[in-house]
Amino acid sequence: MNQLNIPDNTHFEPLVIKPSWRKIQRENITSLQELIQFLELSEHHQSLLYQHPDFILNVPKRLASKIAKDDPTDPLFLQFVPLKQELLTQVGFVAEPMHDAHFAKERKLLHKYQGRALIVSTGACAMHCRYCFRKNFNYDTSDKSFDKELELIASDRSLQEIILSGGDPLSLPDRVLQDLILNLSTIPHLKRIRFHSRFPMGIPERIDDTFLDVLKSTTKQIWFCIHANHPNEFDEDIWQALKKIQLLGIPVLNQSVLLKGVNDDTATLKRFSEILVDHGVIPYYLHQLDRVEGASHFEVEEEKGKELIQQLAGQLPGFGVPKYVREIPGEPSKTSLTSSPQG
Ligand code: SF4
Repeated sequence: MNQLNIPDNTHFEPLVIKPSWRKIQRENITSLQELIQFLELSEHHQSLLYQHPDFILNVPKRLASKIAKDDPTDPLFLQFVPLKQELLTQVGFVAEPMHDAHFAKERKLLHKYQGRALIVSTGACAMHCRYCFRKNFNYDTSDKSFDKELELIASDRSLQEIILSGGDPLSLPDRVLQDLILNLSTIPHLKRIRFHSRFPMGIPERIDDTFLDVLKSTTKQIWFCIHANHPNEFDEDIWQALKKIQLLGIPVLNQSVLLKGVNDDTATLKRFSEILVDHGVIPYYLHQLDRVEGASHFEVEEEKGKELIQQLAGQLPGFGVPKYVREIPGEPSKTSLTSSPQG
């Protein structure tokens, strides 16, 4: 029996947890000294580093290996390496910019938009992105179950879609994910389950047969949204991992954040959209930065973002141009920064 005391689905073999990706995750770089050596940072560039951030350094080694040596302007360096710029304070940049706690119906269930609710499935991530708006979120680490959240979802017939977010839902062991998916699958009014994950960008080995079996174990339509910001994040292993998901009939989308120095120029955004659509991945959103404290150095002015999107629209097919949006807490949908409102 599972968490809702509903008989387990007998069509599926019991899952065997394969520890291979956890072993890879243990190879993440979490020490600045190790990073300095790995990236061969000069003394001058070492002086840019923020030595003791609360949101610690955490980057998979395979991702760090894509960062150019001794280059603090590298787009991946900027995304993952803590810099002293995080100490800058700026009006409007706050600890919890999305007011997530206000939308919590249960400790791990956020309900912001009509028809959809989000499970904050874990606080763990494969990597720590320096601009993360949820880096100060009060994650519930004491209760690992989703019983209360599932009960609430089952009782709210207005919900059609559940978003598995975090942290990163792929940080959960497959047996936990399987249990969650099976429980959600028994709720008749749910039509869709959407994953939001950055995991494949750091540890594509996570998309193994066991995880694919989890995805196959439901008749609900799965959507899979990856989070990437720059073409350099990709490699052939990642495309192959995503292809395995696509071959299950699961649409794969990408959402990005517009980040100064990382992707705030037309050439990079164009190249990025092109490699996504060339691999059947839909460029879904380009988000204006959520104004979390310590991230003000990443902010790009909205006017510039609008110009970038306009230039992209003139050079790409419509499905290659992401929706440029910002999230304003309390609004019924994301706010479009180009034309009509985007949900
Ligand atoms: S993967 Fe997502 S939740 Fe995790 S640190 Fe990066 S932005 Fe935040």
